[in-house]
Amino acid sequence: MSAGEAFVTLVTSDSYCMGAVVVARSLRRHGTTRGVVVMVTPNVSEQSRGALHSVFDEVIMVDRIESGDRLHLSSLGRPELGITFTKIHCWTLTQYSKCVFLDADTLVLDNVDELFQRDELSAAPDPGWPDCFNSGVFVFQPSLQTHASLRAHALQHGSFDGGDQGLLNSFFSSWPVADITKHLPFVYNLSSSCVYSYLPAFQQFGHSAKIFHFTGAVKPWSSSSFKKEGQPPCMDHFVSLWWKEYLSHTTSPPP
Ligand code: UDP
Ligand code: MN
Repeated sequence: MSAGEAFVTLVTSDSYCMGAVVVARSLRRHGTTRGVVVMVTPNVSEQSRGALHSVFDEVIMVDRIESGDRLHLSSLGRPELGITFTKIHCWTLTQYSKCVFLDADTLVLDNVDELFQRDELSAAPDPGWPDCFNSGVFVFQPSLQTHASLRAHALQHGSFDGGDQGLLNSFFSSWPVADITKHLPFVYNLSSSCVYSYLPAFQQFGHSAKIFHFTGAVKPWSSSSFKKEGQPPCMDHFVSLWWKEYLSHTTSPPP
């Protein structure tokens, strides 16, 4: 593919494949003019890769990288997220001049091609600690040199949360103070945790969300996300939008 710009997501396990399909479909529904690519690890099944081939422009195989940091991951409460170090392979996609990374648990609600006007590293604040950016949505510039520096940084310093977000925040450590144009508005990465932590703001501004991010261990495709007691109705709304997108071209039921 010729040099250009692309949205990039990541699948390191079959279950997140459903999420990635929704990322691609929701980007196309809103008329993106950019490439839509997915990185997959070798353990992802052939069947899942086939499903990805039908919605992505490129399916790119990358090695798994694990942080192996059980201590920090257990304090985060997410032992499964060591594998997210694999995300840093996105800097090897030098066939593109600029990319926007989207977690596989995001749902695009509008055209967001204007994100390509931003420079590396642009991202929205994390609701848990707003001086950190959330690494579910970020603008970056592929570069083998940056990739090598990130890997060296990971070896030398590890990650303060055991996942990619801790690593990327300590690597791009000037983000909270250096350049306000690298702070994306929160509506580009509206985290589902806000539905619980600041419901009035969510009710006021949630309708202008451009990208919804289903953060946390329970995803729309996990059966336990249904009929959760005490779940605000607006959360049901986003979960059902996600399912509508997932089922929009599917002829067979989900696995
Ligand atoms: N991921 C994956 N398989 C896994 C865990 C993570 O493919 O088992 C990828 C996927 O792209 C996911 C991203 O890594 O969106 C970050 O993980 P997650 O979204 O679960 O973290 P959260 O946003 O909940 O902190
Ligand atoms: Mn996520």
